[in-house]
Amino acid sequence: MTKHILDISNGHSANPNTDATPDTACVKNKGLQDVIGLTRPELAQALVEAFDLDPKKAKMRASQIWRWVYHFGATHFDAMTDLGKEMRAILPDHFSISRPEIIEKQVSTDGTRKYLLKFGPGVEAECVFIPDVGRSGALCVSSQVGCTLNCTFCHTGTQKLVRNLTAAEIVGQVMVVKDDLGEWPSDSDTRKLSNIVFMGMGEPLYNLPHVGTAIDLISDENGIALSRRRITVSTSGVVPQMHPLGLETNAMLAISLHAVQDELRDVLVPINKKYPLKELLQACRDYPGLSNARRITFEYVMLNGVNDSLVEARELVRLLKGIPAKINLIPFNPWPGAPYECSSWERIEGFADLVNRAGYASPIRTPRGRDIAAACGQLKSESIKERASARLK
Ligand code: SAH
Ligand code: SF4
Repeated sequence: MTKHILDISNGHSANPNTDATPDTACVKNKGLQDVIGLTRPELAQALVEAFDLDPKKAKMRASQIWRWVYHFGATHFDAMTDLGKEMRAILPDHFSISRPEIIEKQVSTDGTRKYLLKFGPGVEAECVFIPDVGRSGALCVSSQVGCTLNCTFCHTGTQKLVRNLTAAEIVGQVMVVKDDLGEWPSDSDTRKLSNIVFMGMGEPLYNLPHVGTAIDLISDENGIALSRRRITVSTSGVVPQMHPLGLETNAMLAISLHAVQDELRDVLVPINKKYPLKELLQACRDYPGLSNARRITFEYVMLNGVNDSLVEARELVRLLKGIPAKINLIPFNPWPGAPYECSSWERIEGFADLVNRAGYASPIRTPRGRDIAAACGQLKSESIKERASARLK
């Protein structure tokens, strides 16, 4: 049975460094600069400006604050005992360390946790923690609220784009979940959250600057320190942004392929009309750092009678020839009003076998968190784009 927890406590009680008063943390403080989301040089520069510090000293202070925030999960400056009393006392006059607000948390029977987070008035998005994926557990983060694309099998695609999430808001998803898992300090040997996948709401390559900064923050060795090889960005195929993604982030790439002919892909993943298969696959071949050790994951949702024949499996093998790849077969996750059904298990297995015999790893992704609508493509929030005039009112 679904365990349904309503949690508005900001969820960081597990953090040993959060015993101070709730005034400086968690809630976004107007007029204060939020530490979360700043790059290390930006934080140092902000310290120079706030306290007229010598740049060298500011760099050192920035490193100390950084470690407290991202390694120990501190949400208060009081905890930063190596900073000096005076500094600790004045930091909250200029800076905050915030978290998105947890509006709702649901836990599936299979241990998957889904969080609905609020980033500002009317700006809500979901993220999902899936245990026992990757090295130990993967967090699926959102990069946008809603999506501009309309893939016909995806629930998020039915929600209009509200806006891009900032780097702070993307990292905020990681911070909230680490709080909830009690994962501070961020210890690489024992952690449950070992992988990040940009497979939540939105198209990450339409928000590359923020996604890139978020990846820099998440992978920084003195902080959360997740290796870039454990960070995967999934795209529906925004071809011009694929090379920059590789160059700027060194992240692993996943492609939402789902069809092997342009005619069908134009329908399922309409961005295909702009960047058809030939261009998409060429961009894959050109992805920086591509090798057998750094293969591209091709995601293929199994839609009954639509894209799941053996002819299509053969064509898939032909198309991917020469690309170091693995193929992730995703049983379609239904949502209310969805125009598709999931393929039968036999059909999925037959497809997987053929691809596997051709030499490609072709795991079938076990649906996780279906009972709480947390599985791939089921995420959606109630946020709607508000007209500026309505907001002013
Ligand atoms: N916008 C990006 C990332 C988010 S979607 C992208 O499209 O790649 C994450 C993955 O879930 C994609 O492969 C997407 O195609 C898949 N997906 C979407 N809806 C789904 C559904 N109903 N069932 C199974 N997978 C789905
Ligand atoms: Fe957007 Fe990805 Fe869903 Fe397509 S599959 S609508 S790109 S979130």
